[in-house]
Amino acid sequence: MDGSSGHGGRDGGRTGDMLLRNYKLGKRLGFGASATVKLAEHVLTGLKVAIKIINKHEIRKIKDMEEKVRREMKIAKLLVHPHIVRLYEVIETSTDIFLVLEYAESGELFDYIVYKNRLNENEARSLFQQIISGVEYCHRNMVVHRDLKPENLLLDSKYHVKIADFGFSNILRDGRFLKTSCGSPSYAAPEILFGKLYAGPEVDVWSCGVILYALLCGKLPFDEGNISDFYRKIKHGIYNLPMSLPPGARDLIRRILVVDPTRRMTIPQIRQHPWFKAHLPCYLTVPPLEANQLAKKIDEQILQVVINMGFDRNQLIQSLFNRVHNEATVAYYLLLDYQYRGSSGYLKAEFQASMESGINQMHQSEPIPRYMNYQGIGQIPQLPQERKWSLGLQFQANPREIMTDVLKALQELRVGWKRIGHYNMKCRWIPGIYGHNSHHLEDDDSNIMESDDAAMKASNVVKFEVQLYKTREEKNLLDLQRVQGPQFLFLDLCAAILAQLRVL
Ligand code: ATP
Repeated sequence: MDGSSGHGGRDGGRTGDMLLRNYKLGKRLGFGASATVKLAEHVLTGLKVAIKIINKHEIRKIKDMEEKVRREMKIAKLLVHPHIVRLYEVIETSTDIFLVLEYAESGELFDYIVYKNRLNENEARSLFQQIISGVEYCHRNMVVHRDLKPENLLLDSKYHVKIADFGFSNILRDGRFLKTSCGSPSYAAPEILFGKLYAGPEVDVWSCGVILYALLCGKLPFDEGNISDFYRKIKHGIYNLPMSLPPGARDLIRRILVVDPTRRMTIPQIRQHPWFKAHLPCYLTVPPLEANQLAKKIDEQILQVVINMGFDRNQLIQSLFNRVHNEATVAYYLLLDYQYRGSSGYLKAEFQASMESGINQMHQSEPIPRYMNYQGIGQIPQLPQERKWSLGLQFQANPREIMTDVLKALQELRVGWKRIGHYNMKCRWIPGIYGHNSHHLEDDDSNIMESDDAAMKASNVVKFEVQLYKTREEKNLLDLQRVQGPQFLFLDLCAAILAQLRVL
């Protein structure tokens, strides 16, 4: 299987049939001027996505709306950043456009501020740092958002910011100024409201200042009560800075909400501000890789998982490298993002380190890189074979039944586990201390990997992951991957699990 659909048309030829085959549509998450957004399950991986459904007939009725939608599609595809909603693919039928997006589980930042009334300094700073990093990335890629507001800043399951809705955004061209008036007046820079020319990034900076104010104060600096008063206040930059604001934040807001765009702080200057720099997480101190560089960094383990689903290795690598959206790459990126989110250290620093140390312990003389760098298509190197012990079992039953059987088997063998997804678990088995039938930790025991110091020190602890995948042939593939521990014990355990599942 080559990962492309074989149909003609836009975006690799996705059709309505493909949508129904690849996604199970669920509840409505929200709706806007141009679209309805629904929750959906990506069938191959079982992971959740948000699908923005845009009716072509409806958008043609609204002036400029089709252009806005097409612009959003084009721009969102360019951007790959931990704080920007990822666009996985676009499926177009004769009547609708479906944007398959990263699912931001915790909703809009707007509702979160309303719920909390206002955020404490540290939380506000952390969200602001994420927003600035995402906006900075857009600007570096010559994209200006132009409609930044808490309604367009979504939150994922861990309350990390995901910048969304690039419908008003535009691509910057050197030396050219923009004039379009767009965005919500409360967050719009004075030069936008008063129809002046603007270069671009400075209008996003203004909106970030308004957002920072809203995060810390739970209200807007410029409120839309009396319209003429409202415009007058923005024009002259008149707003009230509560005394309760932390001094550093007060200073920063004052330097951002400057009416003259040439005197307004820039993002590099915001980055140097002491209040911004405090508690800045490591991953936000360095610029993320550009999307085309990122495309060359292929995660070998996830690649293998997608290949196990029935896709061709070389085709998949080529598609990733060329940033083509097709069934295989969508599965790859969904799994990759899921893994990022699953790790407690954002950008999986922690997860990666633990995985690599596990692998390196196994192959001390010959560490296996988790990421492979591909320097150019046409000279794709042969990837080294995955050397972790793995076992793939194919089942035809439904995934829930399989997981129930697997859990029963693990329980029977006194294997401890911790769920990290519906069909994914981290497991630990300690034969030396407890024997095959001795130790079981509860399903939701979050200490499984850290608890029991004595046991952790034992040299024969076997740590492994269990993941159930759907393959293209409508089968389910059970994958057992050793993370740490003696290989022979892991094999021993696999044999015991197979016996429990009555496969042996
Ligand atoms: P607008 O009227 O602002 O132009 P729109 O038609 O472009 O809106 P969106 O704002 O993109 O639509 O989405 C509408 C709502 O759907 C959002 O406010 C949000 O609540 C929800 N939503 C959108 N994208 C996602 C996502 N990726 N994850 C979760 N919910 C989402």
